[in-house]
Amino acid sequence: MAYVITQNCCNDASCVAACPVGCIHPSPDEPGFATAEMLFIDPDTCIDCGACADACPVDAIRPGTRLSVAHERYQEINADYYRRRPSPPTFKRAATPRPLVTQPLRVAIVGSGPAGLYSAEALLHHSGVRVDMFDRLPAPHGLVRYGVAPDHPATKAVVDQFDFSPEKRQRFDLHLGTEIGTDLSHTELQQRYSAVIYATGAFHPRLLDIPGAQLPGSVPAAAFVGWYNDHPDHRDLNPDLSCNRAVIVGNGNVALDMARILSTDPGDLRNTRIAKHALSALHDSMIREVVIIGRRGPQDAAFTVPELLALTHIPEIDVVVDPADLLNSPASNPKMQLLNEIAHSPASGARTRIVFQFNATPTVIRGGQRVSGLQLQTTDGALHEVEAGLVLHSIGFQGRAIPGVPFDDHRHTIPHRQGRVLDTVTGQPLPGVYTVGWIKRGPTGVIGTNRTCADETVSALLDDVAAGKLAAAPGLQPAN
Ligand code: NAP
Repeated sequence: MAYVITQNCCNDASCVAACPVGCIHPSPDEPGFATAEMLFIDPDTCIDCGACADACPVDAIRPGTRLSVAHERYQEINADYYRRRPSPPTFKRAATPRPLVTQPLRVAIVGSGPAGLYSAEALLHHSGVRVDMFDRLPAPHGLVRYGVAPDHPATKAVVDQFDFSPEKRQRFDLHLGTEIGTDLSHTELQQRYSAVIYATGAFHPRLLDIPGAQLPGSVPAAAFVGWYNDHPDHRDLNPDLSCNRAVIVGNGNVALDMARILSTDPGDLRNTRIAKHALSALHDSMIREVVIIGRRGPQDAAFTVPELLALTHIPEIDVVVDPADLLNSPASNPKMQLLNEIAHSPASGARTRIVFQFNATPTVIRGGQRVSGLQLQTTDGALHEVEAGLVLHSIGFQGRAIPGVPFDDHRHTIPHRQGRVLDTVTGQPLPGVYTVGWIKRGPTGVIGTNRTCADETVSALLDDVAAGKLAAAPGLQPAN
C-alpha cells in the first residue's frame, strides 16, 4: 500500500519534509514545483510510514486502501505522474543552491542518530568538508537503532540512505563508544574542529511527578523501549511481566509501540530485531490487557492514524474504545472516524486487549513493595482505581546537558537560534557551535523532520563559513 495525495493538496510541502524516503515530488527544490497543481506520491518508493499524512495540514493524504469513491482516481493520478516523469523513480534531491565549500573544513558531529546523519549528509555534499561523528554508544543510528520498535523494519531501513558514496566515506569517520564530556571535552573538540554540531537527542527517561512514581514496576518509556531494543543503559531493566494488566500513561506513538510489543504474540516478534532477553521475557509474560491513558479527549490523542490503524490489523489483539468516550467528539477527521469504527467493532476474543481510556489523569501510583495500580482522576473530577502490575510513563523524553555546552534546564534542550548555539549569559551565538534534532527542538516530529532541521543548522554553519566566522580546519590531529 502507498499513501495518496488527493484533491485538497495545498502544495505547502510539509509532507515533502516529513517523508523519510523522499518519495513526494515535485519538491520545492525541483523545477516544476512553482507551477505544479498538486504534489504526488511515488507508489513504488513510499514505505507506508504515514509521516506525510500526519504532516499534511489539510488532510489531503490518505492510505491508498482507504480512499473514498470520490478519491479513488487520485491513486492513478499519483502513479501517473511518475510514469510521465522522465527521471527514474528514485530521485536525488537537488543540491542546496549555495557555493560549494572546497576549502578544508573539519566538523565534529556529536550523535549518530538521524539528525546527525542528515547533517553529515548535507555537509559532505561540500568537497572540502570532513566530518568526524562521535557517539557514546557501541552502535550507530541513535533512535533508529534504539528507539524505533523492532517490528517496524521499514522505518529502521531509513538509515540505509546514509550509506555514503565511497568518495564521501573517505571524508567521514565514525567514532563509537566515545562520550563527549567524559572521553573528550567540548573544549578539546573546539580546539580540533572548525565547528561542532550537537545531535545528542533526547532519549532520556521521564517519569510523572506523582506519589508512587519511584516504585518498582513504574517505568519510564525510555527504559522500556531501550530494554526491548537492547540499549546498553536499559538491557538490565528486567521488567516484571507476571501481572495481568499494564497501564501506559500518555497516548503518543511511543505508547502504541510499547502496547503493541507487550500484546503481540511473541512468535511474531521472533524474526524482528527485538533483544533476545526481551523476547524471552515476553514469551513468559502474563499481561493480557494494556490500558493506554490519555489526559485529554480522543480528538487530542497524540497517536497518529497510521499507527492506530496498524494496531487494528494485528489479529491477536482486540483494540477497545468505549463508544461513550466519543459521544462529544464527532467523527469529523480520520482519527475520530477510525476510533468510531473501533468503538463499534465487536471484540473477537483475541489473546490480548489494548484498551484506550481518555480524559483521565493519574494522581497516585499505588503499591507497597512494588506497583499494584493507579488512581485516576477523570475530567469530571471523579476518582477511579485501576489495578496494574506495570505502569509505563510514556509522556515524552528529555535531553541531557553536556559539560561545557549551554543547556536550558527548563526545556531540556540546547538553546539556539536557527541551529546556532546561544551563550546562556549573553544570548549571543557561540562561534562554531551548533545543534540539531531533538536536543535542539525537543522530542517531537518523525524521523524525516530531522532533514529540514538539519538543513537549517547546516545552512547556518555554511553561512558562517561564507562570512569568515569559522577557522579552517585547526590542528588536524586524529580525534582519538
Ligand atoms: P508524544 O507524541 O508527545 O506523546 C506524549 C503523550 O504524553 C501525550 O499523550 C501527552 O498528553 C502525554 N503527557 C505528557 N505529559 C503528561 C503528563 N504530565 N501527564 C499525563 N500525560 C502526559 O510523545 P511520544 O509518544 O513519546 O513520541 C515522541 C515523538 O516521536 C512524536 O513526535 C511521535 O510522533 C514520534 N514517534 C513516531 C513514531 C511513528 O511514526 N511510528 C513512533 C514513535 C514515536 P498531551 O497530548 O495532553 O500533552
